[in-house]
Amino acid sequence: MKKEIITLNNEVLRVKAEKISEPTSLSIKAIIKNMRDTLKKTPNGVGLAAPQIGISQKIFIIDQKLAKQLQISDVFINPEITRRSFRKEKLEEGCLSVPGIYGFIKRHKIVEAKALNEFGQEFTIKTSGLLAQIIQHEVDHLGGILFIDKATGIFKVEKEKQRNLKS
Ligand SMILES: [Zn+2]
Repeated sequence: MKKEIITLNNEVLRVKAEKISEPTSLSIKAIIKNMRDTLKKTPNGVGLAAPQIGISQKIFIIDQKLAKQLQISDVFINPEITRRSFRKEKLEEGCLSVPGIYGFIKRHKIVEAKALNEFGQEFTIKTSGLLAQIIQHEVDHLGGILFIDKATGIFKVEKEKQRNLKS
């Protein structure tokens, strides 16, 4: 079921999400389904963390098409960034929970992350580009951090454009 995406002034976006102890339980399966339904129906959405639908648990998903392209799981349970490149790049970023606001943020160019997939199996991924940015954005969400905490050059847009991918 599509859920409403929680925005800025809600506490749930500001607390640290809890580690999931039973990744294959029915309640987690239901959360994954709701998150997928929500992301699919959200224009420009490329990623979604559970706190954004009001659930303070360590899980995020990425767009299923992107996951397919990269041949990885779209579900990241208990994700951890295990390595970060020294090099950073300044990227434009927005957030589904902060509508109409964008800014520039320095992200590590390459990250290595590990997580469990929806079947409870651990996987590791080393990535750059859009996925590296999404992973860093989502892991921040699970720690109660929003991009506006770190961004510079914050600006508003009246009308969202297609290029403004958000998570
Ligand atoms: Zn976000």
